[in-house]
Amino acid sequence: MMIDPIQWVRRFAELVDEHTDELTELDAAIGDADHGSNMQRGTAAVVAAFAEDAPTTPSEQLKLVGMTLIRSIGGASGPLYGTFFLRCAAAAGDTEFDAPSFAKAFRAGLDGIVARGKAESGDKTMFDALAPAADALDEHLAAGDSLADALAAAVAAAAAGRDGTIPMLARKGRASYLGERSVGHQDPGATSATLLVLAAKQAVK
Ligand code: ADP
Ligand code: MG
Repeated sequence: MMIDPIQWVRRFAELVDEHTDELTELDAAIGDADHGSNMQRGTAAVVAAFAEDAPTTPSEQLKLVGMTLIRSIGGASGPLYGTFFLRCAAAAGDTEFDAPSFAKAFRAGLDGIVARGKAESGDKTMFDALAPAADALDEHLAAGDSLADALAAAVAAAAAGRDGTIPMLARKGRASYLGERSVGHQDPGATSATLLVLAAKQAVK
């Protein structure tokens, strides 16, 4: 089983389109109501860049994704998602992702988000969805599961992590300015990050 990076990101863009209003409403509660439009603009710019001139190797494709997201999203999430994909690019090779290479790139991307944003578990960020997803992916592949099955487990772990942000007090980003008032709301970035993992699962072929 393999993942084509372009299919992954195209699917992510479609899911973001379907969930733009939800992401905006979540960010309206604990931020500045721009996460939906930020992500929609960024992923649409990536789809447009691929339509214009798609590079042929996964590392070049993912680098284009990262650079386009950094240029077009803005906000806190632009550099974070951008760094995720630039680190993915650096870990990816010249051939399509197989299970081990995808898991390695995903982990490298997560490490990039941490290097950039310094989030830890429980800070109420995208990390709280992505880190459990990376762990589930690694565990299930190590146990011999297929990439599709391991990604199904990763999606469930991301969704549980996303839901787990609701009672958390935000310690990073704009939501942290709210202090106690951030409690009781689902983190927008953890919500979009769950869509990123779902997109990977749906791009497996
Ligand atoms: P902004 O906060 O600048 O308006 P967005 O609304 O696009 O940017 O993104 C907000 C999301 O970014 C949050 O929900 C959170 O998940 C994520 N985020 C913010 N700061 C950090 C950080 N330091 N590390 C990881 N994720 C973060
Ligand atoms: Mg915002």
